[in-house]
Amino acid sequence: MDSQKNTSHKDTSLKHLQFIENQNNCALCGSVLEIHVESLLEDSTIKEEAYCPHCQLKTRVKHHKCH
Ligand SMILES: [Zn+2]
Repeated sequence: MDSQKNTSHKDTSLKHLQFIENQNNCALCGSVLEIHVESLLEDSTIKEEAYCPHCQLKTRVKHHKCH
């Protein structure tokens, strides 16, 4: 019983890890993206930039508002 629980838990965290890896790779070339997070305190926003050093372009910019 205990070993079965363990196996399913491992599987879930592996899928989660793969999801994070996908998020951090360039869609064009597959290189690992450099993530820059900047907090803009003036309007309570966190700016997230993903930059690909290979393509030399910003692949995404996200703004998270935290009130
Ligand atoms: Zn790239």
